[in-house]
Amino acid sequence: MNSRWSDAEATGLDPLDLLVYGSRLIGAEPSLVVWGGGNTSLKVAERDFRGREVRALRVKGSGSDLKNITRKDFPGVRMDEILALLDRPDMDDQEMVGYLAHALQELGGARPSIETLLHGFLSQEAVIHTHADAIVSLSNTDRCREVIQEVYGKDIISIPYRRPGFLLSKDVANALKTHPGATAVILEKHGTITWGQTVKEAYLETIDLITQAENAISAKAKGRVRFGGARVSATPPGERREVALAVAPFLRGLVGRDKRAILHFDEAAAVLEFVGSKEGAVLSQAGPATPDHTIYTKRVACFVECDHPRDPDRVKTAVRAAVERFVTDYTRYFEAHRQEGATLLDPFPRVVLIPGLGMFTTGKDKRTALIVDDIYHHTIAVLGAASTIGGFVSLTPKEAFEVEYWPLELYKLTREPPEKELARRVALVTGGASGIGKAVSRRLAQEGAHVVVTDLDEGGARKVADEIVTAHGAGRALGLRMDVTGEAAVRQAFEAATLAYGGLDIVVSNAGIAVSAPLDAMAVSDWERSFAVNATGHFLVAREALRLLKSQGLGGAFVFVATKNVMSPGKDFGAYSASKAAEAQLAKIVALEGGAHGIRANIVNPDAVFQDSRLWSEEIRRDRARAQGITVEQLEEFYRKRNILGASIMPEDVAEAVLFLASDRSAKTTGCTLTVDGGVKDAFPR
Ligand code: ZN
Repeated sequence: MNSRWSDAEATGLDPLDLLVYGSRLIGAEPSLVVWGGGNTSLKVAERDFRGREVRALRVKGSGSDLKNITRKDFPGVRMDEILALLDRPDMDDQEMVGYLAHALQELGGARPSIETLLHGFLSQEAVIHTHADAIVSLSNTDRCREVIQEVYGKDIISIPYRRPGFLLSKDVANALKTHPGATAVILEKHGTITWGQTVKEAYLETIDLITQAENAISAKAKGRVRFGGARVSATPPGERREVALAVAPFLRGLVGRDKRAILHFDEAAAVLEFVGSKEGAVLSQAGPATPDHTIYTKRVACFVECDHPRDPDRVKTAVRAAVERFVTDYTRYFEAHRQEGATLLDPFPRVVLIPGLGMFTTGKDKRTALIVDDIYHHTIAVLGAASTIGGFVSLTPKEAFEVEYWPLELYKLTREPPEKELARRVALVTGGASGIGKAVSRRLAQEGAHVVVTDLDEGGARKVADEIVTAHGAGRALGLRMDVTGEAAVRQAFEAATLAYGGLDIVVSNAGIAVSAPLDAMAVSDWERSFAVNATGHFLVAREALRLLKSQGLGGAFVFVATKNVMSPGKDFGAYSASKAAEAQLAKIVALEGGAHGIRANIVNPDAVFQDSRLWSEEIRRDRARAQGITVEQLEEFYRKRNILGASIMPEDVAEAVLFLASDRSAKTTGCTLTVDGGVKDAFPR
């Protein structure tokens, strides 16, 4: 591992900024720490709230991530209060958290890391703690002590595994008392502790320690076949995609039957090598690489035994069996180790490994599924490296349970904001680049949905998706081109959505066009184009969505954006009114055929939504004005005055109705038409 330290960048920084700089360098190296793991500290002279000089430990706050940490993420803890704890024989976690809260330099700031005392009990100024892949590869083996001696000699102390907390901090302090000349500490099955008089010294010490481990591992790995070689070869990419498309919604249905999940599919070479290897099945059940991975990945992955990876039906059967077995085993593991007051979080796997196919990871959102994926890549790397050195060993089930159901971790969960109404759901919107479709996409995203924004205008769809990502976070939206009149195009967009999120919950079938002409002057091409988009388009979307929703087995909600014209057609608007009536009729058939599968279908009838609308083109405005015998300028006002409330209908008003029909708020409603037209008597549903 190469040092990333630059003296030029570090010059002129004050001590806390130097700590920020060094911490970010550690965070920039994913094989040292992933997703909030690891922590750093520096002891500094400061003034307390009364202006007295004190020595304070600036240590990473709980919940921050080293790679983009800032000054405010380092709460200050007074050292005299920390050192006063050295005489105590033990202290439980809650008491420790409460104690440290009294020793803070600033009130109401970040809560110091649970590993604070690990830093505070050491006399060195700068301390770095990592969960380096290379180190856990050495220490997660049945030859741990021996290997550490071989690689490092006697100057490195190795400390047996213990869950982070007061006692582990004391273990480290005591070990250093006995070996004052030690240059670093290795926490078995966990990570490293290095130090220095300056942040730079501690950083270089870390890099040096890891480099030695990496060199030892690559020397051992030379000429060896990883994971015992291949057992099942990877399915060719095209077929693999077909199988993944069949398995994803099926798996999402299995793991989402209590609470829905978002899936991520990964077919990277390293994953395919591991899942198809001779040792993959056994190694995947050995346990996590480091304790904090358990929070994201659970103790073990769900390994799917299947010797026919090219046959989607056999893979699905095998997936079902593997998930059921996982649920049984996990429930047993929970029952065996539960402490008082613990409740089962959920018994479903986070990582599903399928030989020949790849890996699915699950999470409450795409971001979490990606974190799980990232962590499991590190797990594979550690398993590969460790098994070149000796037999891989991990935390015992009891130790893993104590981390997974650690009251402090559970406490963190209770502090998270409650999940939004449409969290864990995936919505697909057609015609999402403008007008009603855009407002609907935004509104559903606001309520927590992942949104697949589709439109004939690919750039426009992407723009709306990017906006959603900026507002609500990475992975929350996808912008795709979809021509609703093309069978293949519709299928491709649904496939992209399936691979991105694992399945679908909500379909807002909205794309539409308008043509205005009296019947005796209408070109047949205009009539046919209206039906292609406004009738066939909805059919193609509904057909693809029904197939997907049925294979997923979690129900679903369709919302068809129709029009006031379905109930009250307009003259010179024949092609539009007739084709939209076909859409409304189709929606009712979807309700009839979907009901048995928990799939609902409802209709929204808006009227005269001009804002940001591509349907109301210059030409249509001109034609409709002529049909009503008014000027183009009078058009919006004409429509406003036509309704009972005298209201202008905005895209956001329609989006609100769509949200109601797409969500469980309308769980008992199907085949229904909801008007958003300010009240047009002729268009009352009946
Ligand atoms: Zn740690």
